Amino acid sequence: MTEDRYSILFEPVQIGPVTAPNRFYAVPHATGHGWNQPHGAIALRAMKAEGGWGTVAVQITEIAADTDMANHPMERIWDDSDIPRHTAQVDAIKQFGSLAAIELGHGGMRCRNITTGLPVIGPSALPVLRPEVPLQARAMSLADIKKFRASHKAAATRAKQAGYDILYVYAAHDISLLSNFLSLRTNQRTDEYGGSFSNRLRLLREVIEDTIEVAAGDCAVALRFSVAEPGAKKGLKHDAEGRDVVEALAELPDLWDVNISGWSQDSATARFTDEGYQLPYTDFVKSVTSKPVVGVGRFTSPDTMVSLIRNNRLDLIGAARPSIAEPFLPAKIKQGRTDEIRECIGCNICVSMDSYGLPVRCTQNPTVSEEWRSQWHPEAPVISSARQSHLIVGAGPAGLECALQLMRAGHNVTIADKQSYAGGRVTLEANLPGLNSWARVRDYRLNQLQHSANVQIYLESEMTAENVKEFDADNVIIATGATWRRDGVGCSNFDPLIFDSVTVYTADDVMQGKLKNSSAKEIVVYDDDHFYMGSVIAECLAGDGFSVSYITPLPTVSTWTDNTLDQPRIVSRLHDMGVGMYPNTLLNSDGSFTSTINGEVISLATDAIVMVGARTANDSLYTQLNTQDETNNVHLIGDSLVPGIIQAAVYSGHKAAREILQPENTVKHREQVALQTY
Ligand code: ADP
Ligand code: SF4
Repeated sequence: MTEDRYSILFEPVQIGPVTAPNRFYAVPHATGHGWNQPHGAIALRAMKAEGGWGTVAVQITEIAADTDMANHPMERIWDDSDIPRHTAQVDAIKQFGSLAAIELGHGGMRCRNITTGLPVIGPSALPVLRPEVPLQARAMSLADIKKFRASHKAAATRAKQAGYDILYVYAAHDISLLSNFLSLRTNQRTDEYGGSFSNRLRLLREVIEDTIEVAAGDCAVALRFSVAEPGAKKGLKHDAEGRDVVEALAELPDLWDVNISGWSQDSATARFTDEGYQLPYTDFVKSVTSKPVVGVGRFTSPDTMVSLIRNNRLDLIGAARPSIAEPFLPAKIKQGRTDEIRECIGCNICVSMDSYGLPVRCTQNPTVSEEWRSQWHPEAPVISSARQSHLIVGAGPAGLECALQLMRAGHNVTIADKQSYAGGRVTLEANLPGLNSWARVRDYRLNQLQHSANVQIYLESEMTAENVKEFDADNVIIATGATWRRDGVGCSNFDPLIFDSVTVYTADDVMQGKLKNSSAKEIVVYDDDHFYMGSVIAECLAGDGFSVSYITPLPTVSTWTDNTLDQPRIVSRLHDMGVGMYPNTLLNSDGSFTSTINGEVISLATDAIVMVGARTANDSLYTQLNTQDETNNVHLIGDSLVPGIIQAAVYSGHKAAREILQPENTVKHREQVALQTY
């Protein structure tokens, strides 16, 4: 039953000629399943519709061949041959009563056009908006502008034919030709499309009008617009030209979908931002237009959502990441199951997959991108006729996820952990600066496990091979995690070092508070892991009052966090905290450091080194149990199978449960292109 206080979230919302059945709006986002992996894309979006999102939007859809996003697999609607794929997508979304929206877009100066070999185009002849890519854009002639408008209109016509309810005009982030025309940074024209504000706005207005003409009152027209570009040189500001755009076009589109730009601002992580972080920029829009407004900001709390509506800050609750982590968020609120919401933790593993052009993965939701490929459903329990007992050793992310799936299938599960707390690594990491939301990985699972009569959880229960055998469970699942190495082995050095003249701690030691009482003052954090841990340990120690230097053999700080869009913020944070940063620097066994550029030995005052390199799998219990004379009922999962990111541990636990429950079920569909005759 929906609690009264949440009923406002389930009110219908009129969007031009169409009606959204509720206020939950799954906004466009990259899925990695683009035009070339339609089955995966369709199933992912249909799952959101099934989970109750009243509107489900499709990601950037390239309107023509000259907006080829190359290795970022977007959607395409280049010509009529694309229509059947979109029709199937629309049908899949609408079968659950949701509205289907499509974000028609031209990437402008963010295109690469490598596949098509066509020139990149933009308002002015400038390098593309990717400093690392050696491409320039060609300034569009008036004839090019006419052609662009015609192709947008043609794409809108096809989208309408495919059955979409909402047609987007896309002027958000800087991944949009229309934003390029709007921006003083990229528009240096002197004709009627450049110079004054109204000239730079001209093309956006024309394209909206063109789209309204195509929609002809049958579909709604939405404008996705970034009202501010915080931190960007000559960027839009929500209290200057960003606002002027909203005021100038206020009543033209049927729906305003507003956010901030670039992508690292729009998809900021929880380490640096809280729920609702975009509202200070976007919430003025409601006061300027009478049209409905959707906005985002990693909303997962139903109470926050209600207050946003009641306080007239938004009409529709937009979500990309929260809808990836929890496709059934609306359904769970509706059914009064809010304590079962799988809240997004704001880690941006989903985002990182886009850097690789791969189907999205999620730390919290192991079933995402597996909806079609493996036929995994995030909510439906796996049906298994056998009623078995399972002993899980280790209550970290892998063990808890495995337990949850076994419990849902109605099986009896016992979990034992040697610590006095559940959650394993996420419990420890959640105490580090900015990583508080990591605890959601534990809480979502533990909460349900604790409420099940089929589940027993024993803490402070270290299991030996003897204990496990005595327990005599039908299945034993070893989820004993991994330990940070102390011996200098990391991504850049595979040979253990013998340290005799320096005290070495590990990331585990820091998280367990072992440095707090030490006499050390000058600490070096040596990062040969390159994701978030090295920098967050440095931040933690600096916050505790140590004098901290961050050293890494790679040329940049926390290199892999570039993929989670965090890297510039991490560098600023460390700088602000007075942490000295030394890239291109290798650790030697005597505790000194060598520059990888010129071989010079760097001497730093060091009382202790904190190693953040590789980890060792804690698999000794498994090795003892999995002797050849044993039956094959011992399973190794998570970090104890292979140390990795939290997402991989959760996925591993989920997969193991399914394989135990349905060993015969090996569905793995593959996207395949039908061959023509040559
Ligand atoms: P993962 O990410 O794979 O879930 P974690 O390191 O987060 O791994 O969790 C592993 C958990 O296993 C930790 O909470 C740890 O206390 C527990 N553990 C390790 N060895 C044993 C053991 N022999 N008996 C019980 N618990 C154990
Ligand atoms: Fe949220 Fe992380 Fe999942 Fe992305 S990967 S949806 S940020 S929990």
